[in-house]
Amino acid sequence: MMNKPLSTSRLFLIGGGLLVLLMAQLSFSQAASESQSVEDYNWIHGAVDCLDNTGPELDVYRHDDSTYIVRQNKCQTYEAPFIYVLIGDSKVLVLDTGALASTEDRSFYELLNAHIDASQLEGKSWLILHTHGHGDHTKGDDSFLNREGVQLVSADANAIHDYFQFKDWPNNNQVVSLGEREITVIPTPGHQEEALSFYDPHTRWLMTGDTFYPGAIYVKHWQAYRASIERLARFSQSHSVEALMGAHIEMITRAGEFYPIGTLFQPEERPLPLSVENLNVVNTTLRNTPQPQELVFDQLVIKPMNGLQKSLSNLVRFFNN
Ligand SMILES: [Zn+2]
Ligand SMILES: [Zn+2]
Repeated sequence: MMNKPLSTSRLFLIGGGLLVLLMAQLSFSQAASESQSVEDYNWIHGAVDCLDNTGPELDVYRHDDSTYIVRQNKCQTYEAPFIYVLIGDSKVLVLDTGALASTEDRSFYELLNAHIDASQLEGKSWLILHTHGHGDHTKGDDSFLNREGVQLVSADANAIHDYFQFKDWPNNNQVVSLGEREITVIPTPGHQEEALSFYDPHTRWLMTGDTFYPGAIYVKHWQAYRASIERLARFSQSHSVEALMGAHIEMITRAGEFYPIGTLFQPEERPLPLSVENLNVVNTTLRNTPQPQELVFDQLVIKPMNGLQKSLSNLVRFFNN
C-alpha cells in the first residue's frame, strides 16, 4: 500500500516542530559555550609544527554580551597576548592591540569587529588604551588610526599623562567611564615605567597586563614594582576582585615551571586567571625582599632585569616616546 501523501498543514506542523528542535539545540550549544568559565577555557595554544597551523588569528572567549577576551595565535606571534574588550552603554574599551601590525589585507580593528555582536557596537564610540607600551601590546594600534568614532591613546608617557591627568603618580587612580560601566585605572609601574592596571566592577576582574600574570614577569624597576604590587593588594582588600587577569600565559601546570621565551606550542599551559590569594602571597614575599632577586612561586616567577635587558628596554622606550 502506498503511503497517503501528507497534507500541507501536516507538513507545516512537522516543519515547525523540526524548527523548534533545531532552535532548542542551538540555544543549548550557545548556553554550553557561555557557561564555560575562563578558568576552564582551553585556549588555542600553538602547534607542534606551525607550518601546519590552520588555526584562526584570534581565539575569542565571549564571557558575556559585553565582555570578550581575545588571544592572538601563537603560530603568528609567540607572545600570544591577551586583549580585553569591555563594552559599556556608550563606549567600547579595547585594552591593548596585540603583537601584529596590520597588513594590506588584515586589520586588527576589522577582525575584532567581526567577532563582536554588531548589536553591541551600534552607536558606540571606541576607546583604545594599553596596559603598557611594549610592542607585543601596541602593534595593532595602526589599525585604529584615523577612524571616525575611535579614540586611540598612545602608550607613551606624554599621551598617558595628558589623557588620564594622574595626580601624584603613581599614588592615585583615575576612572574611565564607558557609560554606566566605570573602569578604575591604577598606575602599576615596575615591569615598565608607564604600566597600568584596570579594574572592571562588572566582571570584578583586575586586568594587570604584564605586571601580574601566570608567567616569567620581568621587572625593570624593583622598588616601583614592589610598591605597585602593594597598591594592587590594598585595592583588592577594599574592592571585590574575582580574578587578576594578565596579558600572557607562560606557566606550565607544574608548580614554578614555565615555557621559555619563543615557545610556539604550550599543551600544558595553566589557566589565565590568578587569584587575590596569589597576589597576597607575592606581596608578602616582596615586602621582605628589598633588593632585586628572582622569586619563584607556583603560579608565576618574578625576574629582575639585568643591566643589558634594562639598556635594551631604555633604547626601545626612547624610540617609542
Ligand atoms: Zn611587557
Ligand atoms: Zn607582554
